[in-house]
Amino acid sequence: MGSDYDQQHADGRRALSIRRFALRAGAVTVAITLVGVVGVSGSPPVALEPARRGESVQIRQLPAVPAPFAAPRVKWPQPGQVALTFDDGPCATKTRRTVDLLGDTPATFFVIGGQVRRTPSEAKYAASFGHSIQNHTMDHRRLRQLDSEGISDQLSMAADWIEEIVGTRPTLYRPPYGSTDQRVRAATSALGWSEVMWNGGPPRMDSDSASIIGAVRGQMTRARTTQKGLVLLFHDCSGNFGGMTRALPTVISMLRDDGWEFVAFG
Ligand SMILES: [Zn+2]
Repeated sequence: MGSDYDQQHADGRRALSIRRFALRAGAVTVAITLVGVVGVSGSPPVALEPARRGESVQIRQLPAVPAPFAAPRVKWPQPGQVALTFDDGPCATKTRRTVDLLGDTPATFFVIGGQVRRTPSEAKYAASFGHSIQNHTMDHRRLRQLDSEGISDQLSMAADWIEEIVGTRPTLYRPPYGSTDQRVRAATSALGWSEVMWNGGPPRMDSDSASIIGAVRGQMTRARTTQKGLVLLFHDCSGNFGGMTRALPTVISMLRDDGWEFVAFG
């Protein structure tokens, strides 16, 4: 972690507070311009355009990566890097609570297309902080049970909803239940998708906070020893939400104190 990384975070926080103000004021043009002014290092100030009366705010018109905090985007973390991932959302209340707990720690949300359609504001909320929004299929289907057409439909329908609501089309997917094999990967890669699994997280979806913290500590040690990046799997809308939310701040602190760099998939 160098000073550039810290600077990005500092710039990001300024951008976020300014953008929130601008969004409240209903001035999407001003919001975009201000993010451009403070969010891009070294870019010259841009003259602000006055908001037009009656102009509606549409978050999807913001830049593809609004970058309140611009975490490095990776296909898989390098040694010393960690990616926090949250599956099965978005959903009312819990996704928002998860995002708030994350603070300025970047994460990747593998969302279900049907859930994005049901709770679009939650997906927008997560994306607006700079979290990566990737694909967890339209209906949380086991991809190994589908033919190539079914796999394609599940990923493309979800991607359409994510793009419509969040403004960025995902390029990565995580197979629900980890249901994948060579045939699934061949079908998805032919369509340009990359698969993302995980190598750590709570031992079970109903794990309590102590079990989660203990498991993550062990996974950190293993990843260090084997010189591997760490991808932690959590769930924001299924499993033991209370256990996850009680563990998350401690997990983040442990990783930060141990010098891990947080990255997002993209
Ligand atoms: Zn899932």
